[in-house]
Amino acid sequence: MPVLVMKFGGTSVANLDRIRRAAKRVGVEVAKGYDVIVIVSAMSGKTNELVGWVNETSPLFDAREYDAVVSSGENVTAGLMALTLQEMDVPARSWQGWQVPVKTTSAHSQARIEDISPDNITAKFDEGMRVAVVAGFQGISPEGRITTLGRGGSDTTAVAFAAAFGAERCDIYTDVDGVYTTDPRVSAKARKLDKIAFEEMLELASLGAKVLQTRSVELAMRYKVRLRVLSSFEEQSDEAGTLVCDEEEIMESNVVAGVAFSRDEAKMTLISVADRPGVASIIFGCLSDAGVNVDMIVQNISEEGRTDMTFSLPTDQVGRAEKALGELKSSGGLNFSDLDTELDVAKVSVVGIGMRSQSGVAAKMFKVLSDEGINIKVITTSEIKISVLIDRKYMELAVQALHDAFELEKAA
Ligand code: ADP
Ligand code: ASP
Ligand code: MG
Repeated sequence: MPVLVMKFGGTSVANLDRIRRAAKRVGVEVAKGYDVIVIVSAMSGKTNELVGWVNETSPLFDAREYDAVVSSGENVTAGLMALTLQEMDVPARSWQGWQVPVKTTSAHSQARIEDISPDNITAKFDEGMRVAVVAGFQGISPEGRITTLGRGGSDTTAVAFAAAFGAERCDIYTDVDGVYTTDPRVSAKARKLDKIAFEEMLELASLGAKVLQTRSVELAMRYKVRLRVLSSFEEQSDEAGTLVCDEEEIMESNVVAGVAFSRDEAKMTLISVADRPGVASIIFGCLSDAGVNVDMIVQNISEEGRTDMTFSLPTDQVGRAEKALGELKSSGGLNFSDLDTELDVAKVSVVGIGMRSQSGVAAKMFKVLSDEGINIKVITTSEIKISVLIDRKYMELAVQALHDAFELEKAA
């Protein structure tokens, strides 16, 4: 029988009523003749609560134990979803990551899926089971420990299962009815897109649009998974939501497809480091060894052989970075006069494959921000995106102004 993957995010399984509603939707697909793999997230708010408990217990935690704790939210919803389906007379059972098994790297809290063996679940489908409910976001390391895939990781679980089982489609049910030109919570003018190209979705996701985890888009692109984002709160047709697809499938699109933002950014500046070969390698090697994900980097103008080095990173990694750089200094590995940390910054980005062939997007973006009196602290660009780091208090204003200026409320 053809296989369908259906993923339900936190708000779609937030309580027993919503789990029932999601299960009914699964029942509809089973009745159509599909064997269904349901991937569930933890109930909304649950993972945040678990992360909070870990941080309170141990601020610079052992990531293996972090994973043991935060993976547990999905176990609850997987069992409840299987029970709900059984109550509806749909043959179903739950699976935790290690039972499948979902084999991952041992990069705890940020693990990557390496292999999903379909055999155990396929054998159950062959015996008449119709729905495999799988706890998203988790797997097992080569050392036999529970891992998690990074926040939002259930999306990646879903796409990886769709690839492993050759599913006809991977439907991501969430609390919005598709992918929008920007987060509809920030701009009332955000417009739902019927289709978006993999590459644009990949950039939007990696720049902060959390509607899909970045890695899930990467996998969908690589394994040609038909990926759809749709609402679990509305009646759905087969055409509903947003299809993430190859750019060739899209006839018309705006130069800028969307505006993304990331609120939880911090900016650190190492003041007065030597301006000579090898220094950047020492700084960023040290940060990488400490598990810090550095994003934007600028080296400032050098005076008398010394310079300032600025970089951005997620706010929750500032503690780790300060510790690592402090140790580097005290061990004599690097000389700098001071470390300046700004916690109130945000990153705003415009994304679109049209930028490959059309110039002037950056100039327009900077003009819009300057007209609003917003100072740009750091800029980075790639072929299809431009990102700026600004004061966090201007983030919403910047997103709305850019959405207006690039006329994203209008279809191409
Ligand atoms: P789930 O719990 O279902 O995984 P998430 O909260 O992870 O849901 O992702 C859905 C949210 O993503 C939406 O509620 C929306 O606020 C946010 N979002 C950010 N950018 C976009 C965008 N461009 N289009 C749609 N939603 C977006
Ligand atoms: N529950 C996890 C999180 O909140 C994974 C997910 O929902 O995708 O990040
Ligand atoms: Mg999510």
